[in-house]
Amino acid sequence: MAKQDGSSKESDILRRENEELRARLANLSEFLGMVSHELRTPLTTIKGSTATVLSDPSVFDAAETRQFFRIIDEQSDVLRDLINSLLDLTRIEAGALSVNPEPTDVVFLVAEARNAFLRGGSRNDIQVELESGPQIEADRPRILQVLNNLLSNASKYSPDSSTISVTSTHRDGQVEIAVTDEGRGISAEKMPQLFTPYSRVDGADGERGVAGAGLGLAICKGIVEAHGGRIWVESERDGSGSRFTFTIPVSEQAQTDAADSGFEVSRTRPEDSATILAIDDDPQILRYVRNTLTDAGYTWMGTGNPDELIQFLEVRQPDLVLLDLILPGVSGFDVMKRIRQVSTVPVIFLSAHDSEEHVVQALRMGADDYIVKPFSPNELVARIEASLRKRAVFDHTEVHRPYRLGELTIDYMERGVTVSDSPVHLTATEYKLLFELSVNAGRVLTHDQLLHRVWGPEYSGSAQLVRSMVKKVRRKLGEDGSEPKYIMTQPRVGYMMAKP
Ligand code: ADP
Repeated sequence: MAKQDGSSKESDILRRENEELRARLANLSEFLGMVSHELRTPLTTIKGSTATVLSDPSVFDAAETRQFFRIIDEQSDVLRDLINSLLDLTRIEAGALSVNPEPTDVVFLVAEARNAFLRGGSRNDIQVELESGPQIEADRPRILQVLNNLLSNASKYSPDSSTISVTSTHRDGQVEIAVTDEGRGISAEKMPQLFTPYSRVDGADGERGVAGAGLGLAICKGIVEAHGGRIWVESERDGSGSRFTFTIPVSEQAQTDAADSGFEVSRTRPEDSATILAIDDDPQILRYVRNTLTDAGYTWMGTGNPDELIQFLEVRQPDLVLLDLILPGVSGFDVMKRIRQVSTVPVIFLSAHDSEEHVVQALRMGADDYIVKPFSPNELVARIEASLRKRAVFDHTEVHRPYRLGELTIDYMERGVTVSDSPVHLTATEYKLLFELSVNAGRVLTHDQLLHRVWGPEYSGSAQLVRSMVKKVRRKLGEDGSEPKYIMTQPRVGYMMAKP
């Protein structure tokens, strides 16, 4: 009897396992079917575009051919993103998604996500309201991935030009970051499936025509949970907008010893105080500089990692940079060159070397000052004040006023260039070239002078580099090289712009 009970129990278990296995296989084959479809769609477009161009290349002019390449490029990105998402999902499901959290500034992360989103050409307005709070313990690229996904969903499922807001609050050792939209909302019955893979919820409004594979939120959940956080959604009903919120733990280390790594920002910024960015790999120097600057009423930001510099310059726009001459794996002079490619911010070198050679090289490269370590707090503050004063005088003289010649306007304060009121999008180097020529209007700048000023004195380029850059700028300004209106050629010497 007991034996009979045992065997019927066993067969019950086997039957259940069998059913579960069948259900999982059915899910798997449905999932594979959908993934294949998602892969096939961009592939079909790529094949279609190449087949069209190859069928008879002579039919298409350069612009049309470029348009086909653009389609191929975009669709390749769709394929790459989908494959990356599938790999992420596999890792998450296997419990093998690794994250490398480090103390991170929420303001910085959100600003970076917002910039990336706006660069993508979104028509939605983004409002950011962040509570000042401690740093979080985050794997930056991964949390950016979460923010990008939530922003992109908010935009995909909302009307154009509606507002998307990003807010943060700090409570119980966690920072809550929320992305709220004014879009179509999500009904209660759809909500439970949202964070499961392949959860595209086809309601009456469907997802047709909206790009996406239905993997994004499942990946966001995996990333947030790998950080020890949670993610959830609130939406009252269809049409009422949605709010996606996730939490990330506050960084303990950042609270106790913030100056040791990553960014730190002093939080008490008086309204009119200047913001100073210090780059130094020595935590003790960073701490010393921080104390000196905050005591003097400046807003201080510090990092030991020069790779983060450019983003920092773009996002935070400091008023002055203090730059260590010797950084891990890179010389301060190289960092200086990178700074000058994107910004005219005043730079003061901090260095243990007081050789004339170093001082001269630093000043020639465009540094505003050079301070030899060890230095006293009073000396540091006095030199910063002097550099800021000099810069203020400079900013309020010629460079303050826009350059205007015919239809061309260069607004130095805004770093904007327009021709007939239409914006001209220049790369950092193209802008630098136009800047140098226009602030020296009426004077010929030789090829060597331009190489030196635009690319930096160490750069070993040729006149040809200058010529091809001028060609690019002319093309963007819509001018004809044989009859230039803005940039005049001085054969075999260089270039000149007319006085405005
Ligand atoms: P995808 O957007 O690629 O379909 P996601 O996993 O990111 O995949 O989202 C899953 C589903 O959740 C979407 O298909 C959509 O139905 C719904 N959804 C996500 N975000 C929003 C939002 N902000 N508003 C309305 N619906 C949303």
